[in-house]
Amino acid sequence: MSVLKVGLVGIGAQMQENLLPALLQMPDIRIAAACDSNQASAGRIHRFLSDLPVFDKAAAMLDAVPLDAIVLACPPQVHFNAAMLAMARGVNVFVEKPPCVNLGELQTLIAACHRAQVVSGVGMNFKFARPVRQLHEMTECEEFGQTLHIQLNHYASKPRAPLWGLSSTLRSFLLAQAIHTIDLAVTFGKGELTQIGSNVQRHGDAMIVKAELEFSSGASASLLAGTTFPYFEFDMKLVSSGSILVELDNLWNITLHEPEHGTRPTGTAKRWRGAWQPGPLDSGYERSGYFGELHQFFEAIRHGERFEADFASLLPTYRVIEAICAADEQGGKQGRSLLPAVDFETLSA
Ligand code: NAD
Repeated sequence: MSVLKVGLVGIGAQMQENLLPALLQMPDIRIAAACDSNQASAGRIHRFLSDLPVFDKAAAMLDAVPLDAIVLACPPQVHFNAAMLAMARGVNVFVEKPPCVNLGELQTLIAACHRAQVVSGVGMNFKFARPVRQLHEMTECEEFGQTLHIQLNHYASKPRAPLWGLSSTLRSFLLAQAIHTIDLAVTFGKGELTQIGSNVQRHGDAMIVKAELEFSSGASASLLAGTTFPYFEFDMKLVSSGSILVELDNLWNITLHEPEHGTRPTGTAKRWRGAWQPGPLDSGYERSGYFGELHQFFEAIRHGERFEADFASLLPTYRVIEAICAADEQGGKQGRSLLPAVDFETLSA
């Protein structure tokens, strides 16, 4: 297996707490340089890797050090600019979410990635979390039947003001938080997104966002998210044509309900249910998806394949984000908050 040389951009909380520890566990990855516009933050990399060359600009790092890939955890505007620079030089790019601030920029990233023929990746770690992978396997099996409905609840307490210099708290929340949940709805909904309806309810600087999605597969998804909640909690439920209901609680517990559930002591009986939990000694980075997403990104580079969570995979997610923002703006102007479903096609660029 070839060793890949990796440059890091943005040595802040997310890089130090999650991405770098996952990278350091990975075989055949050599971190070759780091960059942060803040000198003190850049220097923090030396706690983990002494003598690593550090830079204050991504362009300077890319000019000075031959790299196979860069991994970024910065504001989205930096993700966009540095990704464009790196891809133009033929360097593979993995950015934390969000990769950029709107659908137009995402389309620019996708086109640049296509031109450069590099592998792109976005840190959609929920999708790679071990319990979500378990759910995914379950929905692929014949006995599960067809996924008919996905219900997702993403409770958060922030942001309550715009992030990253944006003017909208709603867009900031969708890009910073709900992006994971919308991406899961799209992943489990399968097929093309055909309809989006949404409603935003505000109370002071907090909000509750509701969205209803429909897919060409026949599945529907219902999303409740927002910043009015006491702290972050996440849960989802899947309902199948085989009358199976699966619940995922906080990326940890899976409970499977089926018309009759078999256990060895009871045999097949009604109202028994199956439960799955990660092992107590499972690595946190594997459970939360940080190891899996990066590992699969580097495997895609090695094998010249598409990475599952690449820029293009986020197109439907950004279309949902644009639809929610557009409906909210239109609703505000018309003095009403509840809008009929937005025709998805009219939002496609
Ligand atoms: P942070 O502010 O702690 O770190 C960002 C770092 O980027 C800072 O050190 C800053 O100096 C640096 N930076 C800013 N502009 C730069 C530039 N032009 N060039 C180089 N470095 C620059 O923020 P954070 O909490 O680490 O978040 C970073 C990213 O990670 C955000 O996009 C956030 O959404 C994402 N994140 C993802 C998850 C997840 O669940 N996947 C969780 C937390 C954060």
